Amino acid sequence: MEITANNPALRTWVSGADQTEFPIQNLPFGIFYNASITKRVGVRIGDFVLDLFQLASFGYFEDLEFGPQDFDQPFLNPMMQHGKMAMRALRNRLSDLLSDSNESFQHHTLHHSALIPVEAIQMALPVQIGDYTDFYSSKEHATNVGVMFRDPANALLPNWLWIPVGYHGRASSVIPSEQSVVRPKGQIKPDDNSDPIFAPSRQVDFELEMGFITFDGKALGQSISTAEAEDYIFGLCLFNDWSARDIQKWEYVPLGPFLAKNFASSMSCWIVTLDALQPFCCPTPEQQPEVLEYLRFDGNKSYDIALEVAIEAMNQPEKIVSQSNFRYMYWNMSQQLAHHTINGCNIRCGDLMGSGTISGPTPDSYGSMLEIAWKGTKPVQMPDGTERRFIQDNDTVIMRGVCEKNGIKIGFGEVRSKLLAAL
Ligand code: MN
Repeated sequence: MEITANNPALRTWVSGADQTEFPIQNLPFGIFYNASITKRVGVRIGDFVLDLFQLASFGYFEDLEFGPQDFDQPFLNPMMQHGKMAMRALRNRLSDLLSDSNESFQHHTLHHSALIPVEAIQMALPVQIGDYTDFYSSKEHATNVGVMFRDPANALLPNWLWIPVGYHGRASSVIPSEQSVVRPKGQIKPDDNSDPIFAPSRQVDFELEMGFITFDGKALGQSISTAEAEDYIFGLCLFNDWSARDIQKWEYVPLGPFLAKNFASSMSCWIVTLDALQPFCCPTPEQQPEVLEYLRFDGNKSYDIALEVAIEAMNQPEKIVSQSNFRYMYWNMSQQLAHHTINGCNIRCGDLMGSGTISGPTPDSYGSMLEIAWKGTKPVQMPDGTERRFIQDNDTVIMRGVCEKNGIKIGFGEVRSKLLAAL
């Protein structure tokens, strides 16, 4: 099925939308609500949300597989359960309705109540996440961490260039943008102590990542190939995988990340479909040594998404601390999904896969404070003259992402979260 919704010539009748990062070519899905509207599925267009429950109730999707009950839901999962082709047909239909060539819908009084200004609503966690897996797929990030904590001459561990390294994270603490994070407490072993102490983390960090959300996969025991992988990916979000570096350093041997990582992970609330991102696909960085057969792939499977991170301290303007790009990732999403399922592990509708920290080649493109301030040796200067080596209480971390081509911007909005003092 053709993705007609991506036609760059399309324009919408929704006032001002084509000049925003939510033009008619984007149409991301999310869950919204307010005092008089229960949580339900909406699509973002410009500075408005289109209420899909209302549209479905008037029969606009009757010939598609969707009914009102798919949208009168606190999560996107029931809608996503229909799968990739049904979602493509739905997005194409929404594009038809919102196109300025659609005189009848534009002038139908329905849209006055179905089109709601974003100022009038709040966003919720969009997906009921079953399982959350986090990868470690940026070569620059893995190299920087290896140089800082192990051996500059052998920064990458021997398996890194062969395996898209990952671990199973925790879904219960994935939270939506705007929800604050409490500074975690835990075991820390200062270098000059023989024993660990129990204290609030002194090294709370962000990780600039992107997340992707899956459709239902195959049965347990079967695998998804790199050629099939994108058929199982619904869409992407911005993802701040909060980390407590001092807790991490003491606890991670030998089983890897645990309490340093599972106190909170923040995701942006609009899921931009993989379909909408097709115009921005691009080559994956060269992989040497050549990967094993099941990780080989054809075509452009990486995505050119410009990313930035800002820190906003109380009563001062924000400071941009990183500008990176999703295209820097050494392992692409198709390889991650192929690897994840090569042993027969099943994925389900609403699983979340984190890319791992996205660091670019230069210090201004690193994806964590650990790297930006280089283990505390190169602190960041804030607008008021104070320094940051990690994130301080009451700092807000903001991540944004946008793709741009032929004058059309496809944005993710932002993931924004404030760090509160330890309880
Ligand atoms: Mn992570």
